[in-house]
Amino acid sequence: MTDPTMLVNASHPLPPGWVPDDLVDLWVQKPRHFLLPGRREFLARVAFEAANALFAEAETAGFDDFDVRSGYRDAERQAALYAANPNPGMVAKPGQSEHQTGLALDVGIWRGPFLSANNESHRAWVYEHCWEHGLIVRYPAGKESVTGVPAEPWHLRYVGRDVAAEIRERGWVLEEWHEARRPTA
Ligand SMILES: [Zn+2]
Repeated sequence: MTDPTMLVNASHPLPPGWVPDDLVDLWVQKPRHFLLPGRREFLARVAFEAANALFAEAETAGFDDFDVRSGYRDAERQAALYAANPNPGMVAKPGQSEHQTGLALDVGIWRGPFLSANNESHRAWVYEHCWEHGLIVRYPAGKESVTGVPAEPWHLRYVGRDVAAEIRERGWVLEEWHEARRPTA
């Protein structure tokens, strides 16, 4: 099974040919408490269950219009995205995107923008509750020098509840959580 704490970034690429083994097709998952774009999307089962629980809670809080617009990407799709994007650094190279793990999801407002400070009440609600379901804001503003990625307020990553709680409490990103666990010589 995929390790939910696995680190994927420019200096920790996935091995060539690596694929997750527990993907679910979001269109066939019921009940499903979020909306979907008009194409098939997949997530690792743990990430789906976490997102579904988060957005079920969101519905009861009055936010019933979240969508999951990008989940799992295979290496070919990541390569196509990378090739199509003219801005270096805005799209991860194949093997360096955690979308290839199935543990990451990009969240938006139905038929509208990605989750950001422009939809502050939605964003604030997600940020307050996502960690309770094991999800973290993976690329927060102010941590660009650690993650190597420009802030992406919409990109959530499943790491499991205990790790998410620790990361939130310490104000870390996933790189810092891994760094703290490295044995010191
Ligand atoms: Zn993303």
